[in-house]
Amino acid sequence: MHKPTLIALGLALCLPWAGARAEFPERPITLIVPFPAGGPTDIVGRVAAAKAGEILGQQIVVENRTGASGTIGMAATARAKPDGYTLGLATVSTHGTAPHLFPKLAYDPVSDFTPISNLVTSPNILAVNPAFAAKDLTEFVAHVRANPGKDGYANAGAGGVNDLGMIWFLQLIDGKMNSISYRGSAPALTDTVAGVVPVIFDNFPSTLPYVKSGHLRALAITGTARNARLPDLPTFAEQGYKDYDVTAWYGVVAPAGVPADVRDKLSAAFAKAVRDPATAAKMEETGAFPLGNTPEAFGRQIQAERERWKGVIDKAQIKLQ
Ligand code: GLU
Repeated sequence: MHKPTLIALGLALCLPWAGARAEFPERPITLIVPFPAGGPTDIVGRVAAAKAGEILGQQIVVENRTGASGTIGMAATARAKPDGYTLGLATVSTHGTAPHLFPKLAYDPVSDFTPISNLVTSPNILAVNPAFAAKDLTEFVAHVRANPGKDGYANAGAGGVNDLGMIWFLQLIDGKMNSISYRGSAPALTDTVAGVVPVIFDNFPSTLPYVKSGHLRALAITGTARNARLPDLPTFAEQGYKDYDVTAWYGVVAPAGVPADVRDKLSAAFAKAVRDPATAAKMEETGAFPLGNTPEAFGRQIQAERERWKGVIDKAQIKLQ
């Protein structure tokens, strides 16, 4: 066989591969965390991304794109190319609460995303600067009722779960406080610890270290049971607020239209990552609960959370201050 024929044969043999998609992922993946470094979304995102990247054999790079209760980072996620290389870490704020309160939201929490896997859930906590008058929840309620509109509460973003959680609680106790919103938990905590704002309602993982070190005093935690990380802290439910429950969650989403095989590979990697004993232990140390569910289950959760928060917002007629 002379040379050109050999080359032609070689090319023909290669052809079936030329059009096939290379094995995903071939290059690093970006995970958009829509809240600042040091907050709960960032903590969960970085721990999960490190392990999932190891499982996938490619680095998952965390990019913090903050503002407007996480909705800026989520809008960027929704607009990205649906190839699996850009993901976002959705939260109850970006997909459950904010969509009902932001009239100009640039995305639909259901139709604009491919759910990948909900990584962890976390309770929320009411805490105060140690200089604040109230020593427990009963004193807090009495103080707020006696001083309507006097004090502010720090939260991770207007219309987000921490702002709404507090607005809802204030309605239950017939109290008034001023919402002081930040770009995320980290700056909200800094100001509460410094005494700039006396009260904070926050996701548990970010506040826990400050409670443990005595920089903040915790008054109540959400959920049906106490948290093993602070076993002496009573729940809201056991202090008389039975129907009051506010749970945070952090789940990986991609833009709508990601191919099913890529979606499933990503989902399996993140689910495996958060269930890995060392990674799960790191999550549990923060007081969060590892989950790692399927795209279908996460998709149903997003729908349910959107409906649940619509019910809460409509019933309590909550509007942004
Ligand atoms: N509280 C926000 C949420 O649950 C997260 C805040 C943060 O990570 O800084 O949506």
